[in-house]
Amino acid sequence: MWFTERQKPGVGITCKVLRTLHREISPFQEIAVLDTEQFGRVLVLDGMIQTTIFDEFVYHEMLAHVPLNTHPAPRDVLIIGGGDGGTAREVLRHPQIEKITLVEIDRRVVEICSHFLPELASSFDHPKVKVHFEDGAEYVQKKEVSYDVILVDAPEPVGRAARLFSSEFYQAIFQALRPDGLFVAQTESPFFNQDLITSVYQEVNRIFPITKLYLAVVPTYPSGFWSFTLGSKRFDPEMLSEDYYFSQAFRYYTPEIHQAAFKLPPFVHALSSPGG
Ligand code: SAM
Repeated sequence: MWFTERQKPGVGITCKVLRTLHREISPFQEIAVLDTEQFGRVLVLDGMIQTTIFDEFVYHEMLAHVPLNTHPAPRDVLIIGGGDGGTAREVLRHPQIEKITLVEIDRRVVEICSHFLPELASSFDHPKVKVHFEDGAEYVQKKEVSYDVILVDAPEPVGRAARLFSSEFYQAIFQALRPDGLFVAQTESPFFNQDLITSVYQEVNRIFPITKLYLAVVPTYPSGFWSFTLGSKRFDPEMLSEDYYFSQAFRYYTPEIHQAAFKLPPFVHALSSPGG
């Protein structure tokens, strides 16, 4: 049996499925966990690959450690989305973090990942982690000056996730951050989603004094080349914090990768400054 994700009308990714471990329709989406020959276990939502055992470490390390090593003393972290637990797992590696709030709209994603993807979702059992099941766009509207770092681990900007790529949402993120806070959002592929990256960058740049794009390689995501957009009230992410945290347990992130991730090829840099 084979699974194909149609990433664009004319292109997709296909992998050989050994077993369908779970499949259901939750109140929010179709949720499937596949055991695949090449990528190991794969979480699929509405037909789109969200995370795989094969390459999740790249995405989760780069979403978490770049901002957490930019802020000199992060204590309170908010994760929006992230129902597979991988981002929370990486945040927990930073010993100085005191509280992680994770806001996931679909309880069933957390429950299913806790059963089928314990390598990621065991983070939900940690006492520092508090999970809320609600819309992240609404949750963040209610928060003022509460967080040092906010991580937006949203799926593709379709359906209810579209709100997590809106100007109102980024404005609410700004309000929810402390005066020296910063946030990062995954912002899709520089090959396939150039308009999205440009519009998000322009919006974040209108709100935050420092806005930067950085990159990583995620083979199972569309085009295999991935972007993150960072908005910061004070700290420049290209200046690694003095007491940055690094562990041999990291498999992709290093202080050098942190610096290199911001070195953009011209076609990507152009997305952050349309019209040159
Ligand atoms: N790493 C993946 C990516 O880059 O596409 C995202 C993985 S994570 C599983 C995405 C999560 O966001 C899903 O569990 C989904 O239910 C959740 N989600 C979607 N819209 C949301 C919203 N408005 N508020 C909170 N969580 C939301």
